[in-house]
Amino acid sequence: MRLLMAGSPGAGKGTHGRRLGADLGIPHIATGELLREQVAAGTPIGRKAQEYMDRGDYVPDDVMIEMIRLRLAEPDAEKGFILDGYPRTDAQATALDKLLANEGHAIDAVLVLEVPVEEIVQRLSGRRMCPKCQRAYHMADDPPKDDECCDDDGTTLIIRRDDEPDTVRYRLKVYADRTAGVIEHYDVDSIVRRVDGRASIHEVAKRIDETLGLDK
Ligand code: AMP
Repeated sequence: MRLLMAGSPGAGKGTHGRRLGADLGIPHIATGELLREQVAAGTPIGRKAQEYMDRGDYVPDDVMIEMIRLRLAEPDAEKGFILDGYPRTDAQATALDKLLANEGHAIDAVLVLEVPVEEIVQRLSGRRMCPKCQRAYHMADDPPKDDECCDDDGTTLIIRRDDEPDTVRYRLKVYADRTAGVIEHYDVDSIVRRVDGRASIHEVAKRIDETLGLDK
């Protein structure tokens, strides 16, 4: 399965993408996570990306297209993958199609998690992240078992710099301007599946599995 997770920041792409990847035995590849790893490691790409990320802008297409080309060439992505947060622009979508077509592949499904803007703002304001494994939590809806520490590795959770309210508003605008329309790119092939993301994680997971036919 070659699946794209789509939807605005805070819609639940990471939470559900991670779980789906584990269930299907294919890598969950989140470009935001790949970039944060580069930033943390202080690589040239990380240094270049950080200024864009901190203000909520997109990292330039050429950087992203090359990053995905390299990641999808790794052996674990051969049988399938879940892409989360990519493609975010028309240029990225076109480049991805070309890359896959060269190998005789194509995207099988685009899963769009739909959550209204008011709920997104509320979700992102309560979001915390593990800086080590990048798992996301919500302090009210999906809190860690132990106060402010990651369930998986015990690391103290942090607030992402780009989850500050002003940056969140800007990120939502960038999403509306540049990414919401990218879904239409895939509509022509009837592979777009829309899921109402306004429910508990458990309920949304059930809806996703039904939509993708994984519940049988
Ligand atoms: P995310 O974790 O998906 O919310 O991504 C965090 C930030 O990383 C975004 O606000 C962008 O600055 C950058 N980013 C992630 N994916 C992409 C992409 N496909 N194209 C451009 N920038 C991206």
